[in-house]
This record gives sequence, structure tokens and C-alpha cells, in this order.
Amino acid sequence: MYQSYAVGIDVGGSSLKCGVVNQDGEILYSTIVSLKNAKTEEAIIVLIAEAIGACAKKFENPILGVGVGFPGIIDNNKVIAGADNLPGFEQLALGEILQDMTGHNIIIDNDANLMGLGEMTYGAAKNCSDVVFLTVGTGIGGAVMIDGKLYGGFRNRGTELGHIVVQHNGVSCPCGGKGCLEAYASVTALLNHYRYIHPDLSEREEVDGKYIIERYLAGEEYAVNAMGVHFDYLATGIMSFINIFSPQKIVIGGGISEAGGFYTGEIERRIKTLTVPITSPDSEVISAKLGNKAGLLGCAANVFQKFKAFNDASE
Ligand SMILES: [Zn+2]
Repeated sequence: MYQSYAVGIDVGGSSLKCGVVNQDGEILYSTIVSLKNAKTEEAIIVLIAEAIGACAKKFENPILGVGVGFPGIIDNNKVIAGADNLPGFEQLALGEILQDMTGHNIIIDNDANLMGLGEMTYGAAKNCSDVVFLTVGTGIGGAVMIDGKLYGGFRNRGTELGHIVVQHNGVSCPCGGKGCLEAYASVTALLNHYRYIHPDLSEREEVDGKYIIERYLAGEEYAVNAMGVHFDYLATGIMSFINIFSPQKIVIGGGISEAGGFYTGEIERRIKTLTVPITSPDSEVISAKLGNKAGLLGCAANVFQKFKAFNDASE
């Protein structure tokens, strides 16, 4: 009986996070490959295939498969539409291409989905089966796990959690819609709001999430107001997720969620007053645990989930 390994490749806009992970979620080897000089789709695919080869060679035992996390819409191992900062990657059978190039089983999914799967398998929501994951940053992304599996809707187009509407005919969102959760509760929205209400903040002053949190904890009036609105909208969105899915945990990732226990506490306090009583008693809002390793670990978790059962059946 030998140990099972998975290779994970988390594709970002500027680099590939690559690693070899065992079934316990231990990262046994990891490396980062820069995409700085890869200007075309072909060049990026070659780098991904090379990274898979390099990871697979690290261990004597054969790997079970390769999980790839990719920013964009992924349907059945195909990239339907990739992120803006990666050239090409439209209607591309990336899974098949990588399988042909490397000879390994390949399973691809959206990067935010895999961060959620990583947190459910190895992180904050370990041992849970029904989980909503939200990443709060420049935008808001997320994932929904139902009965232990990622849920993506028809053709994996759904669970755009940042684009549920929290304000009818509200402010414009980068997605083209109006009044989306992302437009009100992302860190971008928080920074804009803080700048807007602060009377004597110079244009040149660097303001980021950490800066506002520090001011908030120090009791500065504008930071308290801006954070209050941020918590209100985030809680409003999460309330809807609880009413639909009744998850055991709502895991919040992204840099700002690491601010401290008060962050999820403030959201939870608001939710208790908003949700339908029958749906909310068991739902708990918690911070993500895996940080920037969530994507890589989710890639591996996807491999163990998709290919392990098949191997078991064929033994
Ligand atoms: Zn939107």
C-alpha cells in the first residue's frame, strides 16, 4: 500500500503555484513559476506542462492526477472564458491538451471554487459537507459545496456569489450589473467609501484594507462608519446564502478576513438579526485558514475526490 499523491497547479495572473500534496493535505514540495515572460496562450500552456512534469518527477510513486485551478469559467475540463490578464484561453480544451502533453489525469476547475474545496477538505471547514466560501478582496468570489461536492450549476456557470444583487438599481459593478454584493462589500468598495466620507484624506495618501482596520480598531469615526457599511452589506449577502443553502460554515477568505476574530464576529452578529430563524441556527461564520495555499490544496483535493473513487473501483 503506497501513499497517494496529487499535483496541484494554481494558475494566477502572474504566476503558477505548483506543488505535490498527499492525501492528508500536506504539501511535500512546492514552487512558483513566473508567467512574466509568457506572452501567449501557447507559452503559458508549455509552462504549465513543464511544471506538472517537474512536480511529478519529485516522487518515486506515481501520482494519482493533476488538479489545475484556473481563473475563469471552466466547464467539463474546458476553459470557456479565461481571466482578462491571461491572453487567449477561450473555448479551449485545456484538460485534454495537458493530458496529451503530460500523460497524467487532469481535472480543472475555477480557482475560487478550488479555494473553497481546499478550505472544506483541509482548512477551516474540515469535516463539513455543506459550506459556502467567500473571498473578499478587490472583488468578491466564492464557492458552494453541497453534500461534500462543489456545486456550479448548469455547465458550471453559477455560484457567482459576488454578483447577487443587494441593492435594486444600485451602483454599477465590473460584471455589467448593478447593485451587486461585490460593488458594495468588496475591499475596493470599502476603500472608495472611506475616501469619500473622510474630509481630510489627501489623494496621495496610501489607503488599504489594513489601514482602515487599524483606524477602525482605534475608533476613528470614518473608519467605523465605512466598516459598519461593509459589515452590513456583507451580512446582507451572507444572509441570503444561509437562507438558500443552510451551510454549516460560511468561510471568509481574502486578506481582510485575517484581521481578527472581530471581523467574522461583526458579520455573525448582524446575521443573527437578519436570517429566517429556521435556516440559521447551525450556520457559523469563520475566517479561512489556508491563506494563499487554499488554491493549491483545493486542486489536490479535487484530484483525490475525482480520481480516487475511480481507482478504488478498478482495483
Ligand atoms: Zn456584479
